[in-house]
Formats: sequence, C-alpha cells, structure tokens
Amino acid sequence: MAAYEPGEQPRPGRRLIKLNTNENPYPPSPGVRKVLAGAANLLRLYPPPRADELIDQAARVYRLPREMIMAGNGSDELLAMLFRAALGPHHKVAYPLPTYSLYDTLAKIQEAVVVGVPWHHEFILPLDELVRARAQLTIICNPNSPSGTLTPLAEISALAKRLGRGLIVVDEAYVDFADSSALELLRDHPNLIVLRSFSKSFSLAGMRLGLGFAHREVIDQLLKVKDSYNLSRLAIAVGAQALRDLDWMRRNVDRVKSTRERVTGELRLIGFEVPPSQANFVMARKPGRDLAPIAAALRKRGILVRHFPTPALKDAMRITIGTPAEMKALITALRLLMAAALAKTTRRGAAQVR
Ligand SMILES: *Cc1c(COP(=O)(O)O)cnc(C)c1O
Repeated sequence: MAAYEPGEQPRPGRRLIKLNTNENPYPPSPGVRKVLAGAANLLRLYPPPRADELIDQAARVYRLPREMIMAGNGSDELLAMLFRAALGPHHKVAYPLPTYSLYDTLAKIQEAVVVGVPWHHEFILPLDELVRARAQLTIICNPNSPSGTLTPLAEISALAKRLGRGLIVVDEAYVDFADSSALELLRDHPNLIVLRSFSKSFSLAGMRLGLGFAHREVIDQLLKVKDSYNLSRLAIAVGAQALRDLDWMRRNVDRVKSTRERVTGELRLIGFEVPPSQANFVMARKPGRDLAPIAAALRKRGILVRHFPTPALKDAMRITIGTPAEMKALITALRLLMAAALAKTTRRGAAQVR
C-alpha cells in the first residue's frame, strides 16, 4: 500500500513562509502557556483515560452531555478509531473525491473497499450516488480539503437520513472558519459522527488534540478500540484551557477569514479559479495546466504551498492563509511567476506561427 504523504515540515530555524499544511499563523492563547508549566508537575502519573477535564469543558462549550463526546490524539486518531471499529475486509467506505487523502490510507489498513464518488460540478454533494454506495461508513469532509467548499447542512441532514443505519462522519477540521456546523444535527441523527480538531483554528497542531461527537451508542463502540491513555496530561490540560479561551481562537479565526477574502480576490485577479472557501486555505486552480512547476518555483523563493500530483488535482495548489505580510509575499511572487510563464507560452506560440 502507499503511505499517507504529509506536507513538508521543514526543520526549525529555516526561514520559510509556510502555507502548505493549514496551520494557524497566530500563536495559541497565553492561558495555554500557563497551564503547560503547571501540568508538567503531574507527568509522573498516567493521564485520566477519558480526558475528563477536557471532556467536561467541551460538554459546556458545545452544550452536549459528556457521554456524547470523546477526545482523540488529533482528529486523525479519531478517524483511525472509526475505521478500525466500523470496517473490516470487503466492507465499504464512501466519500466524495477529491478530499482528505488520509481516508484512503485508513481504508487500506482495514482492507476495506473505497467507493470514491466525484463531487458534482463546483463541489456539489453527489447525494444519490453516496446513498446508492450502501457503505458501512460515509465521510463528508466539511469544509472540504483541498477545495475549501462547504456542503450545506440541509444536504448533510438529507444524506444522514437516507443512509439509515449506515454511519456518516462529518470531518469538521476547518469548521470554525465556516458559517455552519453539523453539531446541531446530532440530536436528530443517531448515525451521525462529527469530528473536530484543535490543529487549525486553535493554533495547536503540535499538541495533537481532536474531539468526536456522536450518540452514546456510537461513542461506546469507539471507546473499545481506543488506546487507554491516548491523550497526554499536557494535551488534556491545554485542550481544556483552549476551550476556556474561546475568544482568543475566535479573534484569530476572524483575522484569517478577512485575509482569506482578500487573497481570494487577488488570486482571481491573477487569473486563478478559486472556489469560495470556508476554511483557512484556498484552492487556486488553472484548469488543465500542471501547476507543479509554479509550486516548485515558489519553494525556491522560500514559500511552501501544497501541490497534489494526481490527475484530478495537478492543476491546483492548496494555499494556507497566513499573516497579511506572508500573503503579500505570496501574491507578489505569484504575479511574477504567472506573468513569466505567460510570456514563455506566448513566445512559443509566436515561434510556431513563424
Ligand atoms: C488537519 C485535518 C485533520 C487532522 O486533524 P488533527 O487534529 O491534526 O489530527 C483531519 N481532517 C482534515 C480534513 C484535516 O484537514
């Protein structure tokens, strides 16, 4: 099997503008720093297996009973638990493509069959096809990566209903940057699981923290495949504090969103197609044209963006929203590179005419 390929993580100390793995350009809250020092004293002891302090705080913030919440060592771990609990050899897992490629890797590990359904034009949910797949597990990444687009709640709700007993996972890693969340659908849909991450909106990618929300019957099954002490004491304390400092997160999210809107307009002016993003990144596309050389040229100038070398995505780059200064450097570099590339094709065209 092919391994999952994470985006480049340069060694510390390298001066790069890092817009390739959707991290937050702003730091975690000052409160997070404080609890880290305090938690260090307790590292001699194993952590509480159910991450109680974090779950209690999450129950308050998201207004759900504790029994409907579980914590993961990143939402990637929650995804791994879901695949392990729900899928065996020849079982089916369905999702629209392109999307987060870790799902493919997790399916391979379980020897499960992937039913990949292409998004309809402009990333509209292929609802009928997903229902027809009759999969044990159906996943909607919402907002979707790498497109940044959001599937409306009404469609998620309709899909959940039509899937009957089939489980539906809504991967909301980017939802704090969006206008709606499937959490409000939980009550009506016992087959729904909502996943959240602290990596993007809370600026805590390095801490590894995620939350899963579902009806108690589903959570109880997931707990059976959970590593006993999956979250460290540091992560539990930091996660609980981050949820107490919600305003800090919201302020950073607002900054990223306003930069996102400006950058979307600038990329369109340079000639990229950019679907409306509800995440902390945008997808810049030149239909039919391989953007690998552009991504490589940006890399040479010290700017990392994500390029996926697959047939469906090679004409696109996924660009994380950084600080205004970082985005200014990106736009300046892209303007030059695209103008140079255009001049080259025009010269070639003129030579052919001659
Ligand atoms: C980043 C990301 C995750 C992983 O989040 P972690 O909490 O860092 O494990 C999950 N799903 C999607 C779609 C992501 O982009």
